[in-house]
Amino acid sequence: MAVTHNGVAYRVADAHAHIYPGKIAEKATASVGRFYDIEMDEIGLPHILHEEGTEAGIERFLVCSVATKVEQVASINQFIAEKCAKYPAFLGLGAWHQDVTDVSGELDRVQALGLRGIKLHPDFQKFNIDDENMLEVYAECTRRGLIVLFHTGDDRMDFSSPRRLAKVLEKQPDFLCIAAHLGGYREWVDARAVLQGTNVYIDTSSSLWACSVEEARRNIAHFGVDKTLFGTDFPMWTPKEELARFFSMGYGEEDNRKMLYDNFARLFGI
Ligand SMILES: [Zn+2]
Repeated sequence: MAVTHNGVAYRVADAHAHIYPGKIAEKATASVGRFYDIEMDEIGLPHILHEEGTEAGIERFLVCSVATKVEQVASINQFIAEKCAKYPAFLGLGAWHQDVTDVSGELDRVQALGLRGIKLHPDFQKFNIDDENMLEVYAECTRRGLIVLFHTGDDRMDFSSPRRLAKVLEKQPDFLCIAAHLGGYREWVDARAVLQGTNVYIDTSSSLWACSVEEARRNIAHFGVDKTLFGTDFPMWTPKEELARFFSMGYGEEDNRKMLYDNFARLFGI
């Protein structure tokens, strides 16, 4: 399985995909669309991601879901783990919430389910990335080799700003995380001005439609081609659309291989 572009076949992993349980998928997808005022291309159902991604040539998918209430964490994590068992192409991130009190117990459960880290969306969840209470979570994730995927950046609010993530990195320079959306959605200039770290990755999801190729390339150069992961933000976009946008940045074969698959494979040890 591969994606072919200009006669070259690439292995591809999608480092940013959302899935929801059947009974809430339609509502959940629509509410994300309203939040960003973007029409969603798909409904976030696991089988649709798997079918369309596979058809586009994508072989691995990092799947996640966000908990807006602490009570949802356990059931979402169960759901993600079940879908990872059903679809071996999936790798799962757990949901998390800032009100979790038993941090190490909950992370034990995340790991027992075979999940590879946690996904946080500070703007939906309404906490600041650099909230004092979250520092223990980050440190414990790094210690366990769990990856924290942040939605990063929104020029309409401040919870997820690259500056706040930079403050965490001042305290925890080895923090292993992915700052989604090229380091900060609509805050790309800020992201490259303030954010850096040896273990900071970025993904290309949901950004390439909104920023110029030059802007995208500046952020990728700042964080490094070795730290950049291809992602779709499904169901926001279809795998095919995001792949076309990715290739429109015009990188060469070696860089494409890193961003489309090799960095992901190294980071997740697959
Ligand atoms: Zn996301």
